[in-house]
Amino acid sequence: MRLGFTLLLLLLVPGLGLAQIIRRSIPDKLVVLTFDDGVSTHATAVAPLLKKYGFGGTFFVCEFPPDFADKQKYMSWEQIKQLDKMGFEVANHTLTHKHVGKLTKDQLIGELDALEARCAAYGIPKPVNFAYPGYAIHPQAYEVLGEKDYHFARIGGDRAYDPTRDHPYLIPSYTTLKDNREVILKGLEEAKYGKIVILTIHGVPDYAHDWVTTPPALFEEYLNYLRDNNYKVIALRDLDQYVDWKEAARVIALPGR
Ligand SMILES: [Zn+2]
Repeated sequence: MRLGFTLLLLLLVPGLGLAQIIRRSIPDKLVVLTFDDGVSTHATAVAPLLKKYGFGGTFFVCEFPPDFADKQKYMSWEQIKQLDKMGFEVANHTLTHKHVGKLTKDQLIGELDALEARCAAYGIPKPVNFAYPGYAIHPQAYEVLGEKDYHFARIGGDRAYDPTRDHPYLIPSYTTLKDNREVILKGLEEAKYGKIVILTIHGVPDYAHDWVTTPPALFEEYLNYLRDNNYKVIALRDLDQYVDWKEAARVIALPGR
C-alpha cells in the first residue's frame, strides 16, 4: 500500500510540475512572429500586412548605431509608437543593440532602462520581453532579466520552443533569411505536441543589414502559408496565456547554474 502510494506520487509529481508551467493547453500550429532591430520596413511593409492577415507580432526595437537617424534604414519613434497603437507588442532589444556579454551588470540594466524610458516617453507600455542582440547570451543577463521581472527572452538556434524544457530566458527561434525557405517551412511543422514555433525576422527587405534580409515576396508566402494552413499567429506577450513564465523560470535549470 505504502509502496504503491510512493510510486503513484513519483508518477504524478513530475506531471504536476509540467501542469503548473502550462497554464492552458498549447494548440498545434501556434506560431509567434518577432521582428528585430526597429528597421524601417517593419512600419512600412510588415505591420500593414500583419493587420491584413489578422496576425499578431512582437517588434524588438532599439536605436541601432550608427545609422539610427537614417530613416530609410530605421523606424522613427513615432513609427514605433504607431505599431503599439495598431495593437502590436513593442519589446526590448537594448537601447543600442549591445551584446549582453560585453556589458557590466550596471551597463546592461542601463541599456534596458533606457529603452524602457524611450517607450514611456512615447506612451508605449513598459516592455516585458527581451531579445538578445546578436543572439549573444550571458548568465549575468538571466540575473538582470529576473530582477526586472521580464517574462521571456528570445535567442536564435533554429528549433522549436518547448515550454516544459526551455528556460523562459532562452527561448529558441528560427531566423528567416533570403535563402532558407526550406528550413522555415520544415520548422513550422514542429508547431505541435506542445511545442511552439517562433520566427525571428529582420527587415522585409532589410536596408540596414542585407545578410539578414527577408525578401517581401518570401515573407508574404510565409503569411499565406500560415493563413492557408490555419496557424494561430500571435505576439510573444500572448504566450503568457499559455505559459507561466515564473514557474518555468523556477523549475527549469539554466546552463552554467
Ligand atoms: Zn538585433
